[in-house]
Amino acid sequence: MLPPIQQLTNPPERPLDASFGEKRELLDAARRAALRYIETLDSRSVAPSVDALDALGSFHVPMPEEPTDPLAVIEMLDRLGSPATMATTGGRFYGFVVGGALPVTTAASWLAAAWDQNAGTYALSPVAAELEEVVSNWLLDLLDLPRESVVGFVTGSTMGTFSALATARNELLRRSGYDMTRSGLAGAPRLRVVTSEECHPTNLATLGYVGIGLDQVEFVPTDQHGQLDVKQLPRLDQHTIVMLQAGNINSGAFDPFSEVCQRAQQAGAWVHIDGAFGLWARASSNYSHLAQGAEMADSWSVDGHKWLNLPQDSAVYMCRHPEAVASVFDVTATYLVRSSQRQPNTLTPELSRRARGVEFWAALARLGRSGVADIIERTCAHARQFAKELRAGGYEILNEVVLNQVVFGLPTEAATREALSRIQEGGVTWLGPTTWKGRYAMRISVSSAATTVDDVEQSIAAIVAAGHRAQRIASP
Ligand SMILES: *Cc1c(COP(=O)(O)O)cnc(C)c1O
Repeated sequence: MLPPIQQLTNPPERPLDASFGEKRELLDAARRAALRYIETLDSRSVAPSVDALDALGSFHVPMPEEPTDPLAVIEMLDRLGSPATMATTGGRFYGFVVGGALPVTTAASWLAAAWDQNAGTYALSPVAAELEEVVSNWLLDLLDLPRESVVGFVTGSTMGTFSALATARNELLRRSGYDMTRSGLAGAPRLRVVTSEECHPTNLATLGYVGIGLDQVEFVPTDQHGQLDVKQLPRLDQHTIVMLQAGNINSGAFDPFSEVCQRAQQAGAWVHIDGAFGLWARASSNYSHLAQGAEMADSWSVDGHKWLNLPQDSAVYMCRHPEAVASVFDVTATYLVRSSQRQPNTLTPELSRRARGVEFWAALARLGRSGVADIIERTCAHARQFAKELRAGGYEILNEVVLNQVVFGLPTEAATREALSRIQEGGVTWLGPTTWKGRYAMRISVSSAATTVDDVEQSIAAIVAAGHRAQRIASP
C-alpha cells in the first residue's frame, strides 16, 4: 500500500505578487524609473561618478533570509543601479562600438519581456520562430548575402563566430571523410586557420572553444590601414579556415574579400567574415563598396546590439551551408520528425533563450532600408567631423577615416594619456585607449543612433580642451 500523501503543515498561501494589481504596480514603478533614466541621461556625466560607484557597495549584503518588498527591490535597483551605469545609450559615448538602443527596440523588448517566451522551439513560441524567419529573410536581402543561407540568433558576434567556426570545422572534416559529430577531434585531420594579425581578439578565443589551438593560426601582416595584405596570404587548402573582418576594430578597414574569397574557393577553403559592426556597411549604397565580395564567403557574423542599435545581447550569424549547420546543432534531427516550421534551437548552441528576433524585427520594421542606411551614413559623417575638427584642434589623426572609427593622439604617449584621463573624468564624453601600429592612441567609435551634431560638437570641444591642457603640462 502506498503511504498517504504527506500533508504540508504550512501550505503556501499564494505565489508572491500574483494579482494583476500587484504586477501593474511593479511594472509602473519600473516604467517610471526607466523614463526618468532616459530623460536625465543627457544631463549627467557619461561615466558614473565616484560617489555612484561607491554606493554600489550597498548591494553587497548577505543573501536575505526572507522576501523583500518588491517595490523596494525596484526602488533599490533604480537608486543604486541607474547612477552607476555607463551612459552608452546616450549620444556621447564613443569608447567601444556598442551602439545605443532605438526607442522602438526598448519598447519591443519590454513587451517581449512580458511575453517571456522561450524561443528555443516553434512549439514553445510560434511568434518568436516566425519573427526570426521574417528577420532572416529581411537580413539576407538587406545585406545582399546568399538567400539560401541559414540565420541563427545568438548573444553576440563572439558566439556568432563560434557557431560559424564549429560549422566550418565539421564541414571541412566531413569533406575529407571524417565525421566530427561521432569521432570528435581526437584523431581528426589537422585544420589550419589563416587570419590577419589585427583580427579581433574574440575570434582567437572562439578558435579555442572549437578545439583549434593558436599554434594552428597563420597570421597575415596588415597594411598601413589595418587591412590584411593579400600579397602575403599563404597557400590555402581544403583544410583551411580563413577568418576575415568587415570593420577593423581600430581603423574600420575591410579585408580584401573578393581576392581572398576567390583564392579560397579555388582551394576548397572556408571563409568566415567577422562583420560584428562593419557588415552593416552593405546596407548603405554609399558604403557597400567597402564590403564588396563579402557575399562570396561561407559564413558571416554581425551584431544587432552594435550599429543596428538593438538592446544588448543580440546578434546573428549566417551560413550558406544549411546541412553543415545541422551537423553541429541539430543533434535531434536523426530521430525527431522534422517539421517545415523553423526550429530555432537547431541553428545555434542554445535551447532555452529569449526571443531575440522581436527586437530585430521591431528595428527593421521601424527603420526600413532607408532608416538603416541613415544610421550608417549619419554616424560615419559624425566620425569625419570628429577627424576634421580634432585635427584642427591639434590632434594627429592616425587612421584613414573610411567608416565610423577615428584613431588619434598627441605627439607623445604621456600627453595622450593625460588628455584621455581628463576627457574621461570630464564627463561630457567617454572614449578609450588603443594601440595603433605600435603607438598608444585614443579611439572614437560613433555607433549610437542617438548621437546628434550637437553631441559631436560638445564632445569635440571637451576633447580639444583636454588636449591643450595635456600639451601644456607635457611641455611647460
Ligand atoms: C564587438 C566585436 C566582436 C565581438 O562581438 P560581441 O558582440 O561583443 O560578442 C568581434 N569582432 C569585432 C570586429 C567587434 O567589433
